[in-house]
Amino acid sequence: MLVVMNAQATAAQIEGVAQRICELGFVPQVIPGQTCTAIGVTGNKGPIDRSRLLRLPGVEQVVRVTGPYKRVARAARPGRSSFPVASTHIGGGFTLIAGPCAVESARTILETARFLTERGVRLLRGGAYKPRTSPYSFQGLGSEGLACLAKAREETGIGIVTEALDVENVARVEEVADIIQVGSRSMQNYPLLRRIAQTRKPVLLKRGIAATVEEWLMAAEYLMSDGNQQVILCERGVRSFGDYTRYVLDLAIVPVLKHLTHLPVVVDPSHATGDARYVPSMALAALAAGADGLLIELHRNPSQALSDGAQALDFDEFVELHAKMKSVAAALDVELR
Ligand code: PEP
Ligand code: MN
Repeated sequence: MLVVMNAQATAAQIEGVAQRICELGFVPQVIPGQTCTAIGVTGNKGPIDRSRLLRLPGVEQVVRVTGPYKRVARAARPGRSSFPVASTHIGGGFTLIAGPCAVESARTILETARFLTERGVRLLRGGAYKPRTSPYSFQGLGSEGLACLAKAREETGIGIVTEALDVENVARVEEVADIIQVGSRSMQNYPLLRRIAQTRKPVLLKRGIAATVEEWLMAAEYLMSDGNQQVILCERGVRSFGDYTRYVLDLAIVPVLKHLTHLPVVVDPSHATGDARYVPSMALAALAAGADGLLIELHRNPSQALSDGAQALDFDEFVELHAKMKSVAAALDVELR
């Protein structure tokens, strides 16, 4: 942490801040500058409460030098996080996760699972509990949907990704899921994060609709500080003034997250664009940008989908995109799973 003194700060005020830093048990390092003096705070083992220094006379601002997140930070471990999930792996390659927005029936989810496994895709995503903007919209099949997912896994061996919407349902979701999804709207539901951390299952943590990087990484920190080391960040678009897509896909976040954290990063171009016509190009861009995988909404018959039909690829569109992904992955020397 760095305390920046204002240009008019007196020597006594600088000394006062240095003394306060000592009282707090840290070591001050005074750095005189041309127009103002800064005082580095060193010797701390954990985060320091900025407000202890901000109100002292002569202080202009108190700047954090390192992020408040510790376990998710890149420096926290050598190399990047990667872990096995079902019969595949997340991290160190490009992992496809696909499926309908919601589980709609045992028959259609099994058909989708078969379609994916035949093409070497090993993770099926489908919601049983859906966070819908309108209370009048289809809310998901609940435990019946989970049973359909379990059956699809039993028959095909595909891994299951599905959302836990509230603390009460985590135990049920945990039984079926290989990866538990935390939806955008739940990113800052801290009791839910804490409960999901206890499952020790890999967690797909979607970015909140208007979350800053720090808020997002602090949500990941909740999971990790409670002992769950298998966290996947999922960029799914943020709210902005652009209205030509449903949200604005923040692809630049991929290299930023790679710089700041060791966690794998998955991109969801389906919810970000909200339009199947734009999904393939953004999917390929995510691969080129260095993401660790994709979450793609896929439906046998998008016009019949009970939710998010506009953004779902149909099976033919998926096959076409998959072929292009193979070419791009080969060109980049990335393992496509
Ligand atoms: C979803 O994954 O189907 C979903 C509702 O996504 P998000 O939480 O990103 O809106
Ligand atoms: Mn959806």
